[in-house]
Amino acid sequence: MKAISKLSREPGLVVTDVPAPVCGPADVLIKVKHAGLCGTDMHIADWDAWARGRIHPPLVLGHEFAGEIVEVGDHVTAFKTGELVNAEGHIICDHCRQCRMGDGHICRNTSIIGVDRDGAFTDLIAMPATNVMPLNGIPTSVGAIMDPLGNAFHTVLSTEISGNSVLVIGCGPIGCWAVGIAKAAGAKQVIASDVQGRRLKLAKAMGADVALNPMEVDLNESIKDLTEGEGMDVVCEMSGHPTAINQAFKAARFGGKVQLLGLPSGEVPINLSNDVIFKGLTLYGVIGRRMYETWHKMQSFLSSGLLDPTPVITHTFKLDQIDEALEAIRSGEAGKVILEIES
Ligand SMILES: [Zn+2]
Ligand SMILES: [Zn+2]
Repeated sequence: MKAISKLSREPGLVVTDVPAPVCGPADVLIKVKHAGLCGTDMHIADWDAWARGRIHPPLVLGHEFAGEIVEVGDHVTAFKTGELVNAEGHIICDHCRQCRMGDGHICRNTSIIGVDRDGAFTDLIAMPATNVMPLNGIPTSVGAIMDPLGNAFHTVLSTEISGNSVLVIGCGPIGCWAVGIAKAAGAKQVIASDVQGRRLKLAKAMGADVALNPMEVDLNESIKDLTEGEGMDVVCEMSGHPTAINQAFKAARFGGKVQLLGLPSGEVPINLSNDVIFKGLTLYGVIGRRMYETWHKMQSFLSSGLLDPTPVITHTFKLDQIDEALEAIRSGEAGKVILEIES
């Protein structure tokens, strides 16, 4: 079967032929219909420092996907063939301390599909049945983005939103979804910040009350004006940019919550005394999705119509158009890019 692979320890991705995976007794075999392309795939394609330290080629990429079950392992009773599903791509050990305390998203032994083992940019993927979620009527094009959408849900809904003011810094796809989720969850005011006008437009389309470009306005002064000098109840930092992380701490009100999802590429200098400790901030590091609380929340928001994530999906490509797909992301023109995988 055709697959988007990393074959050697150098930049680039190739479309190759790989053998079909075997469905183990506790697995289901899924025919992939849609898959999402994201920053992680860009890092692997570009072969940056993170990729060089983590990735062991040959590897089939892809960790965001949805499709149809075509085979069910002997020990699996919860699923049948023909069901449309997606899956949590973090495969966890179930026996470390975090797993056994219900915090599987921070399992010390996590193996990620498309990163640590073969992924979903191909026709078939075998997944442990415990990771698989039924789509319950959600189309596979949306099912394919529920991994990054789940990051947004995890970021926003792990603190109190109802009646609170929320600032989202960094309006890539996950930031734009965070805006929509905060609105849907009853935030009194949602402010979006990004250095790109095109992204701010998308944030507005997802419901941001105010969109600010910190290259054009003084973000902290604007926040003060918009909140009667108080600052924000909740700040979601989605960019990982050192300046933005500092802005996040400054924008939060005394006693505010700062949800940190964006990954900086190195160390970030922070005035901990003035900007965190004396302000009594609570910081939360967001990794993955809570298993499976985040998935159930997400399904509720999607199937009830509380959130429509589709305005953020701007481009769809076929599997062998991977170069064009990467180019669309690099150009800065794209929101979320998905692949349509036909057999
Ligand atoms: Zn991703
Ligand atoms: Zn574990």
